[in-house]
Amino acid sequence: MTPPLITPTRLSDGRELIYFDDPGSAPRTPSPDARGLAGPAVPGHLRYDELSGDWVAVAAHRQSRTHLPPADQCPLCPTTPANASEIPDADYDVVVFENRFPSLGPGTAELPASLPWGQTTPAVGRCEVVSFTSSHTGSFAGLPYERARTVVEAWAHRTAALSSLPGVRQVFPFENRGADIGVTLHHPHGQIYAYPYVAPRAAQLAAMARRFYDDADGRATLLGTLLDRERTAGERVVLEGDHFTAFVPFAARWPLEVHLVPHRHVPDFTSLTGEEKDELASSYLSLLMAVDALYPTPTPYIAAWNQAPLDALLRPASRFHLQLTSPRRAADKLKFLAGSEAAMGAFINDTTAEHVAERLRDALTKNPTRRPADAAGKAPA
Ligand SMILES: [Zn+2]
Repeated sequence: MTPPLITPTRLSDGRELIYFDDPGSAPRTPSPDARGLAGPAVPGHLRYDELSGDWVAVAAHRQSRTHLPPADQCPLCPTTPANASEIPDADYDVVVFENRFPSLGPGTAELPASLPWGQTTPAVGRCEVVSFTSSHTGSFAGLPYERARTVVEAWAHRTAALSSLPGVRQVFPFENRGADIGVTLHHPHGQIYAYPYVAPRAAQLAAMARRFYDDADGRATLLGTLLDRERTAGERVVLEGDHFTAFVPFAARWPLEVHLVPHRHVPDFTSLTGEEKDELASSYLSLLMAVDALYPTPTPYIAAWNQAPLDALLRPASRFHLQLTSPRRAADKLKFLAGSEAAMGAFINDTTAEHVAERLRDALTKNPTRRPADAAGKAPA
């Protein structure tokens, strides 16, 4: 397909904003941001936790950020005479901009390996917001295929750009969907964090991947092997295409957990071919529609795009994939992370991966998709 039209500009406080308009859109001349915001943002700080070896971002300044504003004051809707939003223009398809209240950034720099007790350092890195549509209501699952494809292109563009910033070790695009998991804006949107360190869970997964890779003398990868096993077993596979397969992992931790894994060993969005991106957009839409069809109301979820860390040791063994999880365990019940999970990271799942996979396959077959006829990603027979 032809690429989207990419138009970068700056907001009045100096933050970067980039329009990604669907292919075939007319060239855009960005409107100036008339708000006259003072900038740049005040950074938070980072503290090093010697107990765990983890970094903690302290963002006390974020307490004043916008929380569930009424629709007529939404910062992600296009600007109108009554609402000077974050997007100065009257319309857009997809837009990405630096978060006004970032947990990390706006500055970027190398982080030391650790910091002595009692010392802090500015919270370097970058936090971006990705608005999937100019429409205030709806969700990613309701986007037309072409728009989802533009979002995929935006994720790839931002991954390339953020990966090249000084000190960035991991680029993490994600979406929190639903007030139940702490969403502060209803407008369909996601975020991208560019961390100056490898986040704890990413580091754990990457270390396991590296160990497997070394044991196999570089001839096999962990996620590639797990993918082969799941495709052979079949019972946890939710949908299978030419380039991606979605399955509920054998040892799923959450009441709802699906992984969407590329068949080719690629580190991140930037390494996908056009054909792979086409299928990714359609498969992801199908998956989200199935997730929303499980219950009478939309399912809260976290869509976590796991990309290989930008670390010479970890990167070769790590494979790009999506981990979609939801704490929902019944129509009106959420799983709360309590003692075992929150304090110890030891998950107890009330359901089996096989049962969840069956429900998702069922939801897929009962719900017609809006994917183009030539796109792959069919539910297995
Ligand atoms: Zn809005």
